[in-house]
Amino acid sequence: MNKAIMRAILDKIKEYRRILLFRHGRMDGDCVGATIGLRALLRATYPEKEVLVIDDQQSEYLAFAGQADAQIPDAAYAEALGIVLDTADRERISNQKYSLCRELVKIDHHIEADAYGSLSWVEEERSSVCEMVAAFYAAFRDELKMTKEAATAIYMGMVTDSGRFRFEGVNGDTLRLAGLMLDQGVEIETLYAHLYLQEYGTLKFKAYVYEQMGRTENGVAYIFVTEEMQRQYGLDFESASNVISYLENIKGCLCWLAFIECADGSIRVRLRSRFLAINEVASRYHGGGHACASGSTVYNMEEAQRLIADADALVGEYKRTHAGWM
Ligand code: AMP
Repeated sequence: MNKAIMRAILDKIKEYRRILLFRHGRMDGDCVGATIGLRALLRATYPEKEVLVIDDQQSEYLAFAGQADAQIPDAAYAEALGIVLDTADRERISNQKYSLCRELVKIDHHIEADAYGSLSWVEEERSSVCEMVAAFYAAFRDELKMTKEAATAIYMGMVTDSGRFRFEGVNGDTLRLAGLMLDQGVEIETLYAHLYLQEYGTLKFKAYVYEQMGRTENGVAYIFVTEEMQRQYGLDFESASNVISYLENIKGCLCWLAFIECADGSIRVRLRSRFLAINEVASRYHGGGHACASGSTVYNMEEAQRLIADADALVGEYKRTHAGWM
C-alpha cells in the first residue's frame, strides 16, 4: 500500500525537470532535514534535474545542515513539481508560492488536517518525516543515490523530532532506517555538537527559568518568557521558544507549557504532555497539533491563565482515573 504511493511519487519525480521542496514556517530539525536531505538525494540521483528548496526563513542552529536556495521567478514555479514535507495544512507552508507549482505532492507524518496534493503520502505513526524520506530511499535503493550530506540531514531530523529516539512512535523500523543513514558516514559527534552544545548565556537563562517556573496543584509546569526577558538574555524568538524543553523532565508534571511573548503582543503557547493528550486543550486556544506536542496562541494573561486551568483539570482527571504515572 505505502510502497504503491512511494512508487507513484518516484514516478512523478521522474516526470519533472524542476522540483521544488517546501516545508513549514517556524522551521524545526525535521522539516529542514527532510527538505535538505531529499534535495541532496535527488540531486545526486538526477544531476540533470533542478532541485531547490526556496524558503527565506532561517534557523541559526540548523544552518549547518544546509541552506535554502535563492529565489526564482514566479514563472519558474509553473513548470515545477512541488513536494511539501512535514506540513499538515497549506497555511503553514513557509513559502506560499507553492500554489504556483503545476502539481503538488504531500509527504507528512502529522494528523491529516488538510488533504492536498495530487499525490499524498501521510503516515501519522512515523516518528518524523525524515524517517519517511529514509524509508523512501530504502524502498528504492537500487534507483536512488544516497550521499553523506543527505544522510546527515535526514538523520538530524530523525534525531530531533524523536527527542533522540525517546518519543512514542519510535520503533524498530525507525532505528533500522537510522542505521541505514549512519552507514553513509554521518559524523555523529559533530552532528550532536551542532545540535546540543549550549552557549554560556543560555545556561544562565536556564537557571533563571528554573527559578521562575510555576506548577499547578495537579502537575502542570509552566513558564512565561516576556519580551523583556528575551531582551535581557539576548534571546531570539527561536531560543526563547526552546524554553519548553527545559520543563520536560519534572516528576509528577504530566503537562508543561511555555508562553512566549511575540513582538506583536500575542503569546505563543507550546504545549507538551506525557501519557495524556493535550491537543484538545490547544484546539480551544487557536491551535492544535499532535496528541502530546501542540501549539496555541493566546492574546492576554487571562486567556493564558484559563489555558493553564484547563490543562490542570485535564491532568487532575487523568491522575484520578489512571494508576502508574510518574
Ligand atoms: P510547536 O510547539 O510550535 O513546536 O508545535 C508542536 C506541534 O503543534 C507542531 O508540530 C504542530 O503540529 C502543532 N501546532 C503548533 N502551532 C499550531 C497552531 N497554531 N495550530 C495548529 N497546530 C499547531
